[in-house]
Amino acid sequence: MPNERADTTNPHVVIIGGGIIGCTTAYYLTKAKSGPATKNTLVKVTLIEASQHGPAQGASGKAGGLVAKWAYPKELVRMSYPEHEKLAVEHNGKDRWGWRYVGCGSWEGRGDLDLEGAADEAEGQSKSLEKELGLPGGSKPRATGRMEKGLPDDLLWVDENLTDAYSPMAKEGDTAQVHPYLFTTSMFELAKENGLAYIQGLVTKVVEENGRVAEVEYRPSGSETTTTIAATHVVLAAGAWSPRIVEGLPIEATRAHSVTIHPQVGVQISPYVLFTEIILPSSKESIFRRTVSPEIYARPGNEVYACGPGDDTPLPTTVDEVTVDPKACEAIIQHVGSISKELKNGTVDKRQACYLPTVSTGAGPIVGEADRIAKGLYLATGHTCWGICNAPGTALAITELILQGEVLSGNIKKLRPSVVL
Ligand SMILES: Cc1cc2nc3c(=O)[nH]c(=O)nc-3n(C[C@H](O)[C@H](O)[C@H](O)COP(=O)(O)OP(=O)(O)OC[C@H]3O[C@@H](n4cnc5c(N)ncnc54)[C@H](O)[C@@H]3O)c2cc1C
Repeated sequence: MPNERADTTNPHVVIIGGGIIGCTTAYYLTKAKSGPATKNTLVKVTLIEASQHGPAQGASGKAGGLVAKWAYPKELVRMSYPEHEKLAVEHNGKDRWGWRYVGCGSWEGRGDLDLEGAADEAEGQSKSLEKELGLPGGSKPRATGRMEKGLPDDLLWVDENLTDAYSPMAKEGDTAQVHPYLFTTSMFELAKENGLAYIQGLVTKVVEENGRVAEVEYRPSGSETTTTIAATHVVLAAGAWSPRIVEGLPIEATRAHSVTIHPQVGVQISPYVLFTEIILPSSKESIFRRTVSPEIYARPGNEVYACGPGDDTPLPTTVDEVTVDPKACEAIIQHVGSISKELKNGTVDKRQACYLPTVSTGAGPIVGEADRIAKGLYLATGHTCWGICNAPGTALAITELILQGEVLSGNIKKLRPSVVL
């Protein structure tokens, strides 16, 4: 319905961005349909995504997929974790998006790296993704036996001899995982079954009139010119790109690389997520030993995902133009292989990169109505390293705000846009 007007008796929510936040919000909105704040009229929902390849092409399709009760911010996790569990039951998440509970721990030890063939350092690879900030517990003194080291009996795909210590991070049932690409695209497909309209296009502006959102301007895929779509409510869920659409938002972008590996036939990868601290030997270039910290995620289907540190490579115009530095991927592969011969001898399937959206003031994410900018504009962005975990809580909160006028399922006032804007 390009170029037509909308009013609150004919509510139309336009969601900008088809990552996990946009798609999950579309799912909750299309499922709920109506509420007192929209005068119980059925709500039309449209999602606009810039990628030529559809939703989940950014961080939401290339993340690890950890879902944890011990993640942060607590207020949003309290809403999100039970929703993840409910969604998995309702839609057979186990088969549809790889939902399962996993062991999770910090692993400390030494890497066995052949320095002759070692990958050069990729430039500027130093930013922590900071997921480990949420982890309780600490390191253990060096031990000798498997039991003393704390290695679980079924964690057989890391080298026991190179292990100094393993510490579980949470009790059983408090850590789970999803395959983020499958979860995001499932939310999108389920929302479409409930009536979601989809547009492939690059949003250029949110147009306001008399202090309220009125239209969303976008360039349809394959077109040189822009058009507009009327909106009574706009949800900005464009991840790291959010400040390109609403200027002045304190969101920064960090590029991070990741790889996926399948071990050799016959090797079984037990379900553990490891936050590693690997001490590598000194090299010809440096007499100092150095520590690297890839995060390693076993996944259903005997797949292993691993990601490295972040860098400051500037954000391109669209997700389709994100570049991959082969050296950064090679470094992750070697670091993971340095503690696991099962993975060293495996097959690398994906080498990829994406942008983590962080809130520059340190807090985050930002979830709520930005009525100081325009009434009817809802921000759902800046989810840092916990956007997969916190998507259902965010989607539920935005749905309640739009349909009921307030968040009823929790208290996330500290995430309101007015706190940072
Ligand atoms: C390496 C790595 C590992 C991670 N692991 C985990 C994990 O284990 N658990 C966890 O909870 N979180 C994890 N995260 C964080 C998580 O991936 C992000 O917080 C989450 O994906 C953010 O989702 P989003 O929908 O806000 O953004 P995105 O996934 O970036 O989606 C934004 C979408 O908006 C679209 N868009 C942008 N601009 C426009 C425009 N102008 N018009 C139309 N569309 C537009 C983009 O194309 C994109 O599809 C990880 C992140 C990284 C980088």
